Amino acid sequence: MKLSERAQAMTPSATLAVATKAAELKRAGVNVIGFGAGEPDFGTPLPIIDAAKAALDAGHTGYAKPSSGIPSAKAAVCEKFKRENSLSYDPSQVIVTLGGKEALALAFSALLDPGDEVLLPVPYWVSFPEQIQFFGGRVVPVVPKGDDLRLSPGQIADAVTDRTRVFVFNSPSNPGGFAYNEDETRAIANALKGRDLIVFSDEMYDQLRFGDRSEHFSFARTSPEWYERTITFNATSKTHAMTGWRLGYAAGPANIIKAMCNVQSHTTSGAVHFAQYGLVEALTGDQSHVAERRDAFEKRGRHLSKRLNALKGVRCSEPSGAFYCFPDVSASFAGLGVSDSAGFCEVILEKAHVALVPGDAFGMHTHIRMSFATSMEQIDAGIDRLENVLGRA
Ligand code: PLP
Repeated sequence: MKLSERAQAMTPSATLAVATKAAELKRAGVNVIGFGAGEPDFGTPLPIIDAAKAALDAGHTGYAKPSSGIPSAKAAVCEKFKRENSLSYDPSQVIVTLGGKEALALAFSALLDPGDEVLLPVPYWVSFPEQIQFFGGRVVPVVPKGDDLRLSPGQIADAVTDRTRVFVFNSPSNPGGFAYNEDETRAIANALKGRDLIVFSDEMYDQLRFGDRSEHFSFARTSPEWYERTITFNATSKTHAMTGWRLGYAAGPANIIKAMCNVQSHTTSGAVHFAQYGLVEALTGDQSHVAERRDAFEKRGRHLSKRLNALKGVRCSEPSGAFYCFPDVSASFAGLGVSDSAGFCEVILEKAHVALVPGDAFGMHTHIRMSFATSMEQIDAGIDRLENVLGRA
């Protein structure tokens, strides 16, 4: 049976592959410590769960109408963008989706024609290149020079061409764990000034920022011109520990959002109806859990990066956002007899029973991703095991 070229070109998610292998080992009775999870280890706050339960009891079990999001959910999204991002949107500029992933896929489907170029900073979130190619676009990776994984405005300006249709901006970054501040965001916006392209600003981790980069600055705020040409993406997944609820949202130019709504109405019919009441509570209810969890992530990130830097052949920047460390481990390849991060992760899983994610999945074969959405005890136990294999710096 012949599969479509589109489906054949899509590779299975590498992050899931590691998780699967680790799960197999666990089933076989091996005590594996996992750093692969791209989701908070906290539960969804109870008031959010109660709001969805009440929606079920009230009989909100039919199709969500409209499919692009019930009016109260769109209003909650507008309120969140105004309160936390200083961005004013009308509900006609908003779509509620099945996770951030659907919002991004709909936007690529609405904008890309075959061969259109998409500027994609490296390291990138795994699904970006797959989605871009699935919808016919051409990925143009922009690789950082040197240790700082943040791109300079000059590098972006050099990479953009007349064929660039979309620029993907993800701050705070998955997998990089870094965040751009206001000045850096403005400088990148300036480097792209006058270009006929749309910016996809993936701000899934906007509430998880640390230290001197704790202030988030949305790309759409850089100028009225970029507000007109930016789609801002977010979800309740990371901020409110709701990955399984599949609730995302996006806001941007009304004509693009309308095209996304059209595609959505014929593909998924939108986010789960009763779950959208949970989104309303998450975005407009008590926010105290957000700061508490952010503080916990900040402490863990600082601790993990410090301990990583004490390992032989490992270099790691202190994370300034999200819940990932992204250390360069290439100096340890020769000693372990491997040539890339996939080999590194295999050896570590085998010898130390620690599950890591190879940087290859994110476009960098010299690095690995470690999620610190796990307890301090697990972090210390995992690093102790790595130290047994790699040694001390
Ligand atoms: N964008 C980035 C940068 C992410 O890290 C993720 C999730 O891992 C998503 C989008 C998708 O989020 P969701 O789980 O809401 O679909």
